Amino acid sequence: MNNIIDGKLVSSAVKASVATEVQKLKENGINPSLAVILVGNDPASAVYVKNKQKACIDTGIVPIQITMPEDTAESTLLNKIDELNADDSVHGILVQLPLPKHISEEKVIDRISPKKDVDAFTHDSVGRIVEGKYSFLPCTPAGIMKLLEYYNVDIQGKECVIIGRSNIVGKPMALLMLNASGTVTVCHSKTKNLSEITKRADILVVAIGKAEFVTSDMVKEGAVVIDVGINRMPDGKLKGDVDFDGVSRVASLITPVPGGVGPMTIAMLMQNTAFAAKSISENKNQ
Ligand code: NAD
Repeated sequence: MNNIIDGKLVSSAVKASVATEVQKLKENGINPSLAVILVGNDPASAVYVKNKQKACIDTGIVPIQITMPEDTAESTLLNKIDELNADDSVHGILVQLPLPKHISEEKVIDRISPKKDVDAFTHDSVGRIVEGKYSFLPCTPAGIMKLLEYYNVDIQGKECVIIGRSNIVGKPMALLMLNASGTVTVCHSKTKNLSEITKRADILVVAIGKAEFVTSDMVKEGAVVIDVGINRMPDGKLKGDVDFDGVSRVASLITPVPGGVGPMTIAMLMQNTAFAAKSISENKNQ
């Protein structure tokens, strides 16, 4: 089928351009690095961290992995972040979520220096995104914007409908589409007449966390459908939030799961890290 958005292809192109940028920085004596902090033993988090390390190696970025036990005190983690903030050889800092329950995620994330906030989760970064004056964009929504750009999907004036209002996907996605002059509607668990709204969408972004929730009768003929969901099924396979077989018959473009949005998230993290290294070094030389 020729209406499938190939996230692997686009993410490879992004990573190749990051690798070129990293090489240039190295020639100028800057060695971009990303510190990833993993607290506890969550198996899914361990897989995500491993994938991030691999992408670092692929793009020439130095991966710095910091693993801390489940019972780490919040103050110990905050001290570690202070240390990384002050370390000139570290350009990006990421704390893998979720954190153990006794640690405040908000406090920990907000301790990361805005200059090194490659996940764009700090209050500083979020405020900048609201105003459209950002340094970093959150990786998943930024990856979706890149996919739309790559496939020449113009957002200006389009009806953009997002299902899900999380801080990491739905809300920033809405802001990015608004900044790109889309007419944006955000739906969530309390939205009434969901199908009526989704059927208006020229571009539909789905980030709910419920396998195959969006079916073909909820989608307008010719819509672009972006499926953010990652749902592990009992047989071990991954499924998105969209019924791919049904919806791909009505959509003009659609992302598969896996191989759609997922690979873009990590590619954008690498892009943010290279950008952090470049801007930290430029500011140092001023
Ligand atoms: P979340 O779990 O924080 O929030 C889910 C959202 O869905 C909420 O805003 C809720 O209001 C909405 N929702 C739930 N039931 C609904 C219903 N019946 N009708 C309408 N809205 C409903 O979500 P999240 O962290 O944004 O994650 C969403 C999905 O995206 C998950 O499957 C997650 O694994 C996946 N995800 C993928 C990537 C990636 O890189 N591909 C990144 C982040 C999240």
